[in-house]
Amino acid sequence: MSRTIDRNRLRELQAREEERFARAHPRSRELGERAKGSLVGGVPMTWMIAWPGGFPLFMDHASGARVTDVDGHEYVDLCLGDTGAMTGHAPDASTAAITRQLARGITTMLPTEDAIWVGEELTRRFGLPYWQFTLTATDANRFAIRLAREITKRSKILVFDHCYHGSVDETVATVRDGAVLAREGSVGPPVPPAETTRVVQFNDVAAVERALADRDVACLLTEPALTNIGIVLPDEGFHAQLRELTRATGTLLMIDETHTISTGPGGYTAAHQLEPDILTIGKPIGSGVPAGTFGISHEVMEGMFAQADADYIDGGFGGTLAGNALSLAAIRATLQDVLTEEAFARMIPLAQRWEQGVRESILAHELPWEVQRLGARAEYWFSPDPPRNGAEAAAAYDEQLAAFTHLYALNRGILLTPFHNMALMSPATAPADVDQHTEMFAEMARELVG
Ligand code: PMP
Repeated sequence: MSRTIDRNRLRELQAREEERFARAHPRSRELGERAKGSLVGGVPMTWMIAWPGGFPLFMDHASGARVTDVDGHEYVDLCLGDTGAMTGHAPDASTAAITRQLARGITTMLPTEDAIWVGEELTRRFGLPYWQFTLTATDANRFAIRLAREITKRSKILVFDHCYHGSVDETVATVRDGAVLAREGSVGPPVPPAETTRVVQFNDVAAVERALADRDVACLLTEPALTNIGIVLPDEGFHAQLRELTRATGTLLMIDETHTISTGPGGYTAAHQLEPDILTIGKPIGSGVPAGTFGISHEVMEGMFAQADADYIDGGFGGTLAGNALSLAAIRATLQDVLTEEAFARMIPLAQRWEQGVRESILAHELPWEVQRLGARAEYWFSPDPPRNGAEAAAAYDEQLAAFTHLYALNRGILLTPFHNMALMSPATAPADVDQHTEMFAEMARELVG
């Protein structure tokens, strides 16, 4: 048996929480009003409008797994900058390395020794032998796609519906009744995405096979599990089939580990022995200092330099600040001292504890909800069954409940990622932080069922 949520009751509770939020955050509200005079939508980047409560919290400072806002409230941070701060905020080792490098020069167009250490360590973790650096995961994906096109001389890429790989033009696409379209709300798509992209559902091997059959796809780009429409796990054997189909059709397999690094020190790729031709990652690898990277196989590197007229200096590949000394010092410290094996050995059990706490409340209140976990990252669904692909996941999304949950959590000192019901553990997260969420969730469930 499971209950449905009474929407009138939900609306009443939402109004109560909004009022509580406004009362508790006068300074954020004041800054939010002032910001409207100079910032688009009153925020430095439009997605910040998505925070619940009617106006965004303004941050004062963040340390470890805690954020403090300008009204003096402290939050347990389970959002962690949507993975950008998975290291925890300002971890000592990174802060020391970053501060040291700041005083020794940020960007000179010259390589530093740190870059070599980092390249070697990335190879040890992910298996791919050669690396390049960017400032964001978006750029890592953009450059890697260009590389795949250059080498294969094919124009199209293949992605899964409801994927997210950053603001990469080719990936902001969806599929409806077999037709590839710009994703709803896509801002100024440069060309109709059907010209650049094929889109199929995650876990649909037959559709992947059909999409690759014409051998005009340069690369298949995917996260190991979808993480941007809730966590959608791959079916048993799905990745092996992707590898087989991409090899059979001369398509490069490109794995984006930006979020799935939650699985362990070498991401899902190492944990499940994936064999991508290209691997991309960004967000937490510099402890929040802008940094992204992509790794390539021997064959891809050979292919790269076999193109006589490809211009890797300014042929649409690169960036002035990419590979700068500060980013590399930050990555080195992060990999050497922060996102270590030992850290994952603490973080993953914490995510299990979080998952268990949520599941107990769901069962106790007979709610038609589900919880899913990938290593140190977990997320709940307001639907009874875990979706198998992006379309199912999108259909199960409950905007009203998500908005309520996030606001309810904020009002009780817990920060969840605005676009997800996601919680991420950092090396600085404590069991008591998890328990605070568990208690909040139990109380929320109790109030919702009345
Ligand atoms: N890849 C994945 C899987 C992501 O989730 C994101 C951002 N959410 C990106 C790439 C892009 O990261 P960024 O916005 O830092 O470039």
